[in-house]
Amino acid sequence: MSDGLMIEVSNLTKRYAGHTAVSGISFTVERGEIVGLLGSNGAGKSTTMRILSCYMPATSGTVRVAGYDVFTQADEVRRRIGYMPENNPLHPEMRVREYLKFRARLKGLGWRRSRERVDVVLEQCALTDVSRKIIGNLSKGYKQRVGLADALVHEPELIILDEPTIGLDPRQIRSVRQLIKDLARTHTVLISTHILSEVEITCSRVLILHEGKILAADTPDNLQKLMGDHGQVVAEISAPLAELQDCWEQMAEVAHFDLSPAEGDYQRCALTPQNGADLRPLIFAVARERGWQLRELTRSRPSLEDIYVRVIRPNGEEEI
Ligand code: ATP
Repeated sequence: MSDGLMIEVSNLTKRYAGHTAVSGISFTVERGEIVGLLGSNGAGKSTTMRILSCYMPATSGTVRVAGYDVFTQADEVRRRIGYMPENNPLHPEMRVREYLKFRARLKGLGWRRSRERVDVVLEQCALTDVSRKIIGNLSKGYKQRVGLADALVHEPELIILDEPTIGLDPRQIRSVRQLIKDLARTHTVLISTHILSEVEITCSRVLILHEGKILAADTPDNLQKLMGDHGQVVAEISAPLAELQDCWEQMAEVAHFDLSPAEGDYQRCALTPQNGADLRPLIFAVARERGWQLRELTRSRPSLEDIYVRVIRPNGEEEI
Protein backbone atom coordinates (compact mmCIF):
# COMPACT_ATOMS: atom_id res chain seq x y z
CA MET A 1 0.00 0.00 0.00
CA SER A 2 1.27 3.48 -0.89
CA ASP A 3 2.28 5.54 2.09
CA GLY A 4 0.08 8.52 2.84
CA LEU A 5 -2.04 8.19 -0.29
CA MET A 6 -5.78 7.83 0.15
CA ILE A 7 -6.69 7.98 -3.54
CA GLU A 8 -4.58 6.98 -6.53
CA VAL A 9 -6.21 7.38 -9.91
CA SER A 10 -4.17 6.37 -12.91
CA ASN A 11 -5.19 6.83 -16.53
CA LEU A 12 -8.89 6.52 -15.73
CA THR A 13 -11.27 6.50 -18.68
CA LYS A 14 -15.04 6.06 -18.73
CA ARG A 15 -16.96 5.77 -21.96
CA TYR A 16 -20.74 5.70 -22.12
CA ALA A 17 -22.27 4.57 -25.39
CA GLY A 18 -20.46 6.70 -27.91
CA HIS A 19 -19.40 9.36 -25.40
CA THR A 20 -16.19 9.69 -23.36
CA ALA A 21 -17.13 11.20 -19.99
CA VAL A 22 -13.69 10.80 -18.37
CA SER A 23 -10.62 10.71 -20.53
CA GLY A 24 -7.41 9.22 -19.12
CA ILE A 25 -7.21 11.24 -15.90
CA SER A 26 -4.60 10.67 -13.19
CA PHE A 27 -4.43 12.24 -9.75
CA THR A 28 -3.65 11.40 -6.14
CA VAL A 29 -5.10 12.58 -2.85
CA GLU A 30 -3.09 12.30 0.34
CA ARG A 31 -4.55 11.26 3.66
CA GLY A 32 -5.99 14.25 5.49
CA GLU A 33 -6.36 16.41 2.38
CA ILE A 34 -9.58 18.17 1.42
CA VAL A 35 -9.66 18.25 -2.35
CA GLY A 36 -12.19 19.93 -4.61
CA LEU A 37 -13.16 18.59 -7.99
CA LEU A 38 -14.21 21.72 -9.83
CA GLY A 39 -15.98 21.68 -13.16
CA SER A 40 -19.11 22.79 -14.94
CA ASN A 41 -22.03 20.51 -15.76
CA GLY A 42 -20.96 17.45 -17.71
CA ALA A 43 -17.25 17.83 -16.88
CA GLY A 44 -17.12 14.27 -15.53
CA LYS A 45 -17.16 14.93 -11.76
CA SER A 46 -20.01 12.58 -10.86
CA THR A 47 -18.67 9.87 -13.15
CA THR A 48 -15.25 10.03 -11.45
CA MET A 49 -16.85 9.93 -7.98
CA ARG A 50 -19.12 7.03 -8.85
CA ILE A 51 -16.15 4.98 -10.05
CA LEU A 52 -14.16 5.84 -6.92
CA SER A 53 -17.09 4.73 -4.76
CA CYS A 54 -17.48 1.42 -6.61
CA TYR A 55 -20.89 2.42 -8.00
CA MET A 56 -19.84 1.67 -11.53
CA PRO A 57 -16.85 0.23 -13.32
CA ALA A 58 -14.37 2.20 -15.38
CA THR A 59 -13.70 1.49 -19.02
CA SER A 60 -9.95 1.45 -18.35
CA GLY A 61 -7.34 2.66 -15.89
CA THR A 62 -6.73 1.88 -12.24
CA VAL A 63 -8.17 3.38 -9.07
CA ARG A 64 -6.96 2.57 -5.58
CA VAL A 65 -8.50 3.78 -2.34
CA ALA A 66 -6.42 3.36 0.82
CA GLY A 67 -4.29 1.00 -1.22
CA TYR A 68 -7.22 -1.22 -2.33
CA ASP A 69 -8.27 -1.64 -5.93
CA VAL A 70 -11.84 -0.42 -6.52
CA PHE A 71 -12.50 -3.15 -9.09
CA THR A 72 -11.03 -6.20 -7.42
CA GLN A 73 -11.32 -5.22 -3.74
CA ALA A 74 -14.61 -3.31 -3.77
CA ASP A 75 -15.72 -4.51 -0.31
CA GLU A 76 -12.56 -3.16 1.32
CA VAL A 77 -13.01 0.14 -0.54
CA ARG A 78 -16.71 0.50 0.36
CA ARG A 79 -15.89 0.01 4.03
CA ARG A 80 -13.52 2.99 3.86
CA ILE A 81 -15.65 5.37 1.80
CA GLY A 82 -18.61 7.49 2.80
CA TYR A 83 -20.23 8.62 -0.43
CA MET A 84 -22.97 11.21 -0.73
CA PRO A 85 -24.27 11.20 -4.31
CA GLU A 86 -25.69 14.20 -6.11
CA ASN A 87 -29.42 14.62 -5.38
CA ASN A 88 -28.86 12.40 -2.39
CA PRO A 89 -31.49 9.67 -2.65
CA LEU A 90 -33.05 9.21 0.80
CA HIS A 91 -36.15 7.29 1.83
CA PRO A 92 -38.62 10.16 2.34
CA GLU A 93 -41.18 8.05 4.21
CA MET A 94 -38.73 6.95 6.92
CA ARG A 95 -37.84 8.75 10.14
CA VAL A 96 -34.31 10.11 10.44
CA ARG A 97 -33.04 7.74 13.13
CA GLU A 98 -34.83 4.75 11.64
CA TYR A 99 -33.30 5.50 8.21
CA LEU A 100 -29.76 5.89 9.55
CA LYS A 101 -30.07 2.65 11.52
CA PHE A 102 -31.32 0.90 8.40
CA ARG A 103 -28.36 2.27 6.42
CA ALA A 104 -25.89 1.29 9.15
CA ARG A 105 -27.21 -2.27 9.16
CA LEU A 106 -27.06 -2.34 5.35
CA LYS A 107 -23.42 -1.32 5.56
CA GLY A 108 -22.74 -4.33 7.73
CA LEU A 109 -22.70 -2.85 11.25
CA GLY A 110 -24.07 -5.03 14.03
CA TRP A 111 -27.25 -4.05 15.90
CA ARG A 112 -25.44 -2.59 18.92
CA ARG A 113 -22.76 -0.82 16.88
CA SER A 114 -25.44 0.65 14.58
CA ARG A 115 -27.20 2.18 17.55
CA GLU A 116 -23.99 3.68 18.91
CA ARG A 117 -22.90 5.05 15.53
CA VAL A 118 -26.33 6.52 14.72
CA ASP A 119 -26.22 8.44 18.01
CA VAL A 120 -22.75 9.74 17.16
CA VAL A 121 -23.63 10.90 13.63
CA LEU A 122 -26.93 12.43 14.74
CA GLU A 123 -24.95 14.54 17.16
CA GLN A 124 -22.15 15.25 14.68
CA CYS A 125 -24.55 16.45 11.99
CA ALA A 126 -26.76 18.38 14.46
CA LEU A 127 -29.75 16.11 13.76
CA THR A 128 -30.57 14.95 17.28
CA ASP A 129 -33.57 17.30 17.51
CA VAL A 130 -35.14 15.96 14.32
CA SER A 131 -34.20 12.31 14.79
CA ARG A 132 -37.88 11.26 15.04
CA LYS A 133 -39.09 13.36 12.14
CA ILE A 134 -40.10 11.99 8.75
CA ILE A 135 -37.34 12.70 6.22
CA GLY A 136 -39.79 13.86 3.54
CA ASN A 137 -40.95 16.69 5.82
CA LEU A 138 -37.48 18.09 6.49
CA SER A 139 -35.99 21.17 4.82
CA LYS A 140 -33.41 20.63 2.07
CA GLY A 141 -30.62 21.65 4.46
CA TYR A 142 -31.65 19.00 6.99
CA LYS A 143 -32.02 16.39 4.25
CA GLN A 144 -28.49 17.15 3.17
CA ARG A 145 -27.31 16.60 6.76
CA VAL A 146 -29.11 13.26 6.80
CA GLY A 147 -27.19 12.38 3.63
CA LEU A 148 -23.95 13.33 5.33
CA ALA A 149 -24.85 11.34 8.45
CA ASP A 150 -25.55 8.37 6.18
CA ALA A 151 -22.14 8.79 4.52
CA LEU A 152 -20.47 8.86 7.94
CA VAL A 153 -22.35 6.18 9.81
CA HIS A 154 -19.88 3.33 9.15
CA GLU A 155 -16.89 5.49 10.20
CA PRO A 156 -15.24 5.81 6.77
CA GLU A 157 -11.75 7.29 6.39
CA LEU A 158 -12.60 8.98 3.10
CA ILE A 159 -15.68 11.08 2.45
CA ILE A 160 -16.79 11.72 -1.12
CA LEU A 161 -19.43 14.41 -1.53
CA ASP A 162 -21.00 15.16 -4.91
CA GLU A 163 -22.21 18.79 -5.02
CA PRO A 164 -23.16 18.84 -1.32
CA THR A 165 -24.48 22.40 -1.24
CA ILE A 166 -26.46 22.47 -4.49
CA GLY A 167 -29.99 23.79 -4.03
CA LEU A 168 -29.43 25.04 -0.47
CA ASP A 169 -30.15 28.58 0.71
CA PRO A 170 -27.18 30.72 1.87
CA ARG A 171 -27.70 29.92 5.56
CA GLN A 172 -27.90 26.19 4.90
CA ILE A 173 -24.82 26.42 2.65
CA ARG A 174 -22.85 28.01 5.48
CA SER A 175 -23.82 25.35 7.96
CA VAL A 176 -23.15 22.42 5.59
CA ARG A 177 -19.75 23.94 4.67
CA GLN A 178 -18.89 24.30 8.34
CA LEU A 179 -19.83 20.70 8.90
CA ILE A 180 -17.57 19.61 6.02
CA LYS A 181 -14.71 21.65 7.43
CA ASP A 182 -15.17 20.03 10.83
CA LEU A 183 -15.17 16.59 9.22
CA ALA A 184 -12.01 17.43 7.31
CA ARG A 185 -10.08 17.59 10.58
CA THR A 186 -10.41 13.84 10.97
CA HIS A 187 -11.11 12.60 7.45
CA THR A 188 -9.86 12.83 3.90
CA VAL A 189 -12.48 14.64 1.83
CA LEU A 190 -13.13 14.78 -1.91
CA ILE A 191 -15.87 17.22 -2.81
CA SER A 192 -17.25 18.16 -6.22
CA THR A 193 -18.65 21.53 -7.10
CA HIS A 194 -19.15 23.93 -9.96
CA ILE A 195 -18.79 26.94 -7.64
CA LEU A 196 -15.34 28.46 -7.38
CA SER A 197 -15.98 30.14 -4.03
CA GLU A 198 -16.91 26.76 -2.56
CA VAL A 199 -13.46 25.30 -3.24
CA GLU A 200 -11.79 28.49 -2.08
CA ILE A 201 -13.60 28.28 1.23
CA THR A 202 -13.34 24.58 1.91
CA CYS A 203 -10.52 22.97 -0.05
CA SER A 204 -6.76 22.81 0.34
CA ARG A 205 -6.30 21.71 -3.28
CA VAL A 206 -8.38 21.92 -6.42
CA LEU A 207 -8.55 19.76 -9.53
CA ILE A 208 -10.15 21.50 -12.49
CA LEU A 209 -12.00 19.01 -14.64
CA HIS A 210 -13.15 20.00 -18.11
CA GLU A 211 -14.62 17.72 -20.74
CA GLY A 212 -13.32 14.66 -18.91
CA LYS A 213 -9.75 15.91 -18.50
CA ILE A 214 -7.86 17.49 -15.59
CA LEU A 215 -6.64 20.86 -16.77
CA ALA A 216 -5.11 22.12 -13.56
CA ALA A 217 -4.39 20.84 -10.07
CA ASP A 218 -3.23 23.31 -7.47
CA THR A 219 -4.08 25.24 -4.32
CA PRO A 220 -6.91 27.79 -4.68
CA ASP A 221 -4.34 30.58 -4.12
CA ASN A 222 -2.09 29.41 -6.92
CA LEU A 223 -5.06 29.07 -9.25
CA GLN A 224 -6.00 32.67 -8.50
CA LYS A 225 -2.43 33.70 -9.28
CA LEU A 226 -2.72 31.95 -12.63
CA MET A 227 -5.13 34.72 -13.47
CA GLY A 228 -2.46 37.38 -13.02
CA ASP A 229 -3.83 40.53 -14.62
CA HIS A 230 -7.39 39.78 -13.58
CA GLY A 231 -7.01 41.34 -10.13
CA GLN A 232 -8.79 44.52 -11.15
CA VAL A 233 -9.42 46.97 -8.34
CA VAL A 234 -12.38 49.32 -8.11
CA ALA A 235 -11.97 52.44 -5.97
CA GLU A 236 -14.54 55.18 -5.44
CA ILE A 237 -12.69 58.38 -4.68
CA SER A 238 -13.76 61.99 -4.25
CA ALA A 239 -11.04 64.03 -6.01
CA PRO A 240 -10.67 66.31 -9.06
CA LEU A 241 -10.87 64.23 -12.23
CA ALA A 242 -7.63 65.60 -13.73
CA GLU A 243 -5.70 64.76 -10.54
CA LEU A 244 -7.02 61.23 -10.55
CA GLN A 245 -6.15 60.74 -14.22
CA ASP A 246 -2.69 62.10 -13.65
CA CYS A 247 -2.13 59.92 -10.61
CA TRP A 248 -3.09 56.63 -12.34
CA GLU A 249 -1.04 57.55 -15.42
CA GLN A 250 2.04 58.07 -13.27
CA MET A 251 1.58 54.90 -11.23
CA ALA A 252 3.86 52.24 -12.76
CA GLU A 253 1.89 49.40 -11.15
CA VAL A 254 -1.27 50.33 -13.08
CA ALA A 255 -1.51 48.77 -16.54
CA HIS A 256 -4.67 50.65 -17.53
CA PHE A 257 -7.60 52.40 -15.94
CA ASP A 258 -11.08 53.62 -16.56
CA LEU A 259 -12.89 56.47 -14.78
CA SER A 260 -16.63 57.07 -14.55
CA PRO A 261 -18.72 59.41 -12.41
CA ALA A 262 -20.32 57.82 -9.33
CA GLU A 263 -23.01 59.08 -6.97
CA GLY A 264 -22.16 62.35 -5.20
CA ASP A 265 -18.88 63.96 -6.25
CA TYR A 266 -17.08 60.60 -6.41
CA GLN A 267 -15.30 59.01 -9.36
CA ARG A 268 -15.38 55.29 -9.88
CA CYS A 269 -11.84 54.18 -10.83
CA ALA A 270 -11.40 50.71 -12.33
CA LEU A 271 -7.68 49.93 -12.23
CA THR A 272 -5.99 46.93 -13.83
CA PRO A 273 -2.60 46.04 -12.34
CA GLN A 274 0.63 45.09 -14.06
CA ASN A 275 1.62 41.48 -13.33
CA GLY A 276 -1.36 40.73 -11.13
CA ALA A 277 -0.14 42.95 -8.26
CA ASP A 278 -2.65 43.84 -5.54
CA LEU A 279 -3.17 47.59 -5.98
CA ARG A 280 -5.25 48.16 -2.87
CA PRO A 281 -2.48 49.12 -0.41
CA LEU A 282 -1.04 51.58 -2.94
CA ILE A 283 -4.39 53.20 -3.64
CA PHE A 284 -5.15 53.46 0.04
CA ALA A 285 -1.76 55.10 0.70
CA VAL A 286 -2.15 57.58 -2.18
CA ALA A 287 -5.65 58.58 -1.08
CA ARG A 288 -4.47 59.17 2.48
CA GLU A 289 -1.41 61.11 1.37
CA ARG A 290 -3.42 63.42 -0.88
CA GLY A 291 -6.35 63.76 1.48
CA TRP A 292 -8.85 62.17 -0.97
CA GLN A 293 -12.04 60.64 0.37
CA LEU A 294 -12.09 56.92 -0.36
CA ARG A 295 -15.39 55.07 0.10
CA GLU A 296 -14.86 51.78 -1.74
CA LEU A 297 -11.82 49.67 -2.45
CA THR A 298 -12.45 46.19 -3.81
CA ARG A 299 -10.46 43.70 -5.83
CA SER A 300 -12.38 41.52 -8.24
CA ARG A 301 -11.89 37.79 -7.98
CA PRO A 302 -11.69 35.78 -11.17
CA SER A 303 -14.72 33.64 -11.84
CA LEU A 304 -14.61 29.95 -12.58
CA GLU A 305 -15.21 30.86 -16.21
CA ASP A 306 -12.20 33.22 -16.18
CA ILE A 307 -10.00 30.48 -14.79
CA TYR A 308 -11.37 27.98 -17.29
CA VAL A 309 -10.67 30.29 -20.17
CA ARG A 310 -7.14 30.86 -18.92
CA VAL A 311 -6.50 27.18 -18.31
CA ILE A 312 -8.09 26.01 -21.54
CA ARG A 313 -6.58 28.74 -23.72
CA PRO A 314 -3.39 29.87 -21.96
CA ASN A 315 -2.44 32.38 -24.65
CA GLY A 316 -5.76 34.13 -24.41
CA GLU A 317 -6.84 33.46 -27.99
CA GLU A 318 -10.57 33.75 -28.54
CA GLU A 319 -12.70 30.70 -29.16
CA ILE A 320 -14.17 30.70 -32.65
P1 ATP B 1 -23.09 17.39 -13.43
O1 ATP B 1 -22.71 18.34 -12.37
O2 ATP B 1 -24.02 17.99 -14.46
O3 ATP B 1 -23.54 16.05 -12.92
P2 ATP B 1 -20.56 16.18 -13.95
O4 ATP B 1 -19.30 16.93 -14.04
O5 ATP B 1 -20.82 15.46 -12.70
O6 ATP B 1 -21.75 17.13 -14.28
P3 ATP B 1 -21.01 13.68 -15.25
O7 ATP B 1 -22.36 13.50 -14.63
O8 ATP B 1 -19.90 12.84 -14.79
O9 ATP B 1 -20.57 15.20 -15.18
O10 ATP B 1 -21.19 13.50 -16.83
C1 ATP B 1 -20.12 13.56 -17.75
C2 ATP B 1 -20.65 13.32 -19.14
O11 ATP B 1 -21.11 11.96 -19.25
C3 ATP B 1 -21.85 14.17 -19.52
O12 ATP B 1 -21.72 14.55 -20.86
C4 ATP B 1 -23.03 13.28 -19.31
O13 ATP B 1 -24.07 13.61 -20.18
C5 ATP B 1 -22.47 11.91 -19.64
N1 ATP B 1 -23.12 10.85 -18.85
C6 ATP B 1 -23.20 10.77 -17.51
N2 ATP B 1 -23.84 9.65 -17.12
C7 ATP B 1 -24.19 8.99 -18.26
C8 ATP B 1 -24.87 7.77 -18.54
N3 ATP B 1 -25.32 6.98 -17.56
N4 ATP B 1 -25.05 7.42 -19.83
C9 ATP B 1 -24.58 8.21 -20.84
N5 ATP B 1 -23.92 9.37 -20.64
C10 ATP B 1 -23.73 9.77 -19.38
